[in-house]
Amino acid sequence: MHVVITGGAGFIGSNLARALTQHPDIAEVRIIDNFATGTKDNLTGLDAQLFEGDVQDPALLDSALDGTDAVVHLAALPSVPRSLWDPISTHHANATGTLQVLEAARRAGNLHVIAASSSSVYGATPALPKHEDLPTVPMSPYAVTKLATEAYLTAYHHSFDLPVLPLRFFNVYGPGQRADHPYAAVIPRWIHAALNGHPATVYGDGTQTRDFTYVGTVTTLITDALLRRIVHPTPVNLAFCTRTSLLNLAEELGSVLGTPLPLQYEPGRPGDVPHSQADSARLRALFPAVTPTPLLRGLLETVAWHAQ
Ligand code: NAD
Repeated sequence: MHVVITGGAGFIGSNLARALTQHPDIAEVRIIDNFATGTKDNLTGLDAQLFEGDVQDPALLDSALDGTDAVVHLAALPSVPRSLWDPISTHHANATGTLQVLEAARRAGNLHVIAASSSSVYGATPALPKHEDLPTVPMSPYAVTKLATEAYLTAYHHSFDLPVLPLRFFNVYGPGQRADHPYAAVIPRWIHAALNGHPATVYGDGTQTRDFTYVGTVTTLITDALLRRIVHPTPVNLAFCTRTSLLNLAEELGSVLGTPLPLQYEPGRPGDVPHSQADSARLRALFPAVTPTPLLRGLLETVAWHAQ
């Protein structure tokens, strides 16, 4: 099998590329990335051909997809705050980019397309756990682009019989996730603070909950989806119905680090949802063999990577 990963120089993409290049049933991995947020360092030692450029470029897409079987579309500007000050670029990269990828997949012979959406599409919906059939209430331009991503996949499935799988990622964490930018996710931010002798900043009172998924679980699941050519016309949550409060996360991190994590409280950030938890029934039905890596194990791997 020959696979293209868009956004392959990013956090999830480079972990996926590493997993696929080591898999006996994957013959070739190609990466498309324009390094908007990804880095060349993430590609060090990877046996994958790089097509450097923008997913909005049809000629680049045609050459990268030529002779391949599937596309895992992860390229995006993934930040909610960035989408608030730069909605147009976010729309171009995420929504137009997805449309171009789907058109290219069609031109290349109706390739299997797996794409990343986000739990942000649920927005302020208070229901828990979040079932895929709940109404979506996007609260940021970023969330709108992810809703567009999954809606385009559904439409291309119905209009052109394109084999698609839109996945709604929740909070993914693990090695390779950056801590060095202002909108870094909580786990790399806290690990980075702890390793540098700083307190971990908690926005709000820390009782808010998240459904964390280790990046290794995500790559195992996408590999399984590629090899069994899993198709689902509508979105599938990618998280396992776990609910960890930030205070609990701090305790777990403290136990991995061997010392309690000092916390510093700041006011809650506007737009932060209080609780997030996936209904994972659809995911578990489609991927019965995939079991999630426990939080403590994932944190051990992540701390080890940051410590290097
Ligand atoms: P990331 O920023 O590390 O990776 C995104 C990659 O896409 C980067 O390498 C970037 O350079 C590339 N890219 C951006 N715009 C591009 C363009 N126009 N053309 C080509 N390449 C481009 O982010 P990530 O955390 O690895 O996220 C991967 C995907 O998963 C994204 O679509 C994101 O929206 C989605 N997602 C991630 C999470 C999470 O917890 N990390 C949660 C929900 C959804």
